[in-house]
Amino acid sequence: MEPKILSGKECAASVNAETQAMAEKYIEKYGIAPALAVILIGDDPASCVYVNSKAQKCVELGLRSEKFLLDKDATMEEVLALIDKLNNDPTIHGILVQSPPPPQIDEEKVIAAIDPAKDVDCFHALNVGKMLIGKTDGFFPCTPYGVLKILEYYNIDPAGKHVVVIGRSNIVGKPLMALMVQKAKGANATVTCVHSGTRDLASYTRQADILIAAIGKSEFVKADMVKEGAVVIDVGINRIPDATKKSGSRLTGDVAYAEVAPKTSAITPVPGGVGPMTIAMLMRNTVRAALMAAGEKL
Ligand code: NDP
Repeated sequence: MEPKILSGKECAASVNAETQAMAEKYIEKYGIAPALAVILIGDDPASCVYVNSKAQKCVELGLRSEKFLLDKDATMEEVLALIDKLNNDPTIHGILVQSPPPPQIDEEKVIAAIDPAKDVDCFHALNVGKMLIGKTDGFFPCTPYGVLKILEYYNIDPAGKHVVVIGRSNIVGKPLMALMVQKAKGANATVTCVHSGTRDLASYTRQADILIAAIGKSEFVKADMVKEGAVVIDVGINRIPDATKKSGSRLTGDVAYAEVAPKTSAITPVPGGVGPMTIAMLMRNTVRAALMAAGEKL
């Protein structure tokens, strides 16, 4: 049977329509738009593209976007002073610092300086802790939140299933484990996390009802690592050389899509899978931050 293609584009469009409606209601009630401040330190081309696409999405959905472009030689003091100013600005609801910052900037200290109520990336230890203990009055990190939304959108309930996450980064793998294992709707799974220290990794991935790949290695997951009928979510975004393309490269996921897809019951493509969800959930978190700051119960 053909696998169901889990389109992140379609799911993101649905999430964004809801976010836009929430933003409109907020503006009507409070007279200002939910606002996201994005700080970019330096001029890394990929980071500039990410920052611009976040700003553009804000505008599309009726949110206000503020970009702060700091010199690549900016000091910690300058960055912390800007964060302090934004923390104390009631018209700013979300703050994020585009990663990776230049080497003189201590990213951990920068994240710790952001007001947890404005930490829409959910990188602050307080919000990570809240997520781990199942509190829902913080935020969920955007990419793992996007994975949950795709599953929800396509009526794939992880409850009682064996979810295997490949990768244990702080921004994808670990939060995905934490979210999937919660005794909550859209979760309640049995979770295994495998990583570079795992012996015989394929013996675990083959047991997965839902396999989530987040390792950053092009087409790492092959057909013989996947159980027949599994759901496969590919978080990976890798750019590899391809002489047949005008640009000289193309995007691949962490899953060898062509050979894996026929074995699955459902799979996300790359591009157009988890990618569009990350930004959609960032927009949602920003509106959430604005509503929470206004004292609304969510
Ligand atoms: P990291 O590099 O931070 O983490 C990769 C993880 O994979 C690590 O835990 C690492 O193990 C593990 N790993 C690496 N190689 C292997 C291997 N050969 N076998 C087993 N485990 C391995 O990456 P991220 O989590 O930040 O990102 C993962 C992928 O997701 C990337 O392709 C990235 O581009 C993509 N991504 C996509 C997003 C989106 O919007 N769709 C957003 C964020 C990321 P160890 O801990 O032992 O080193």
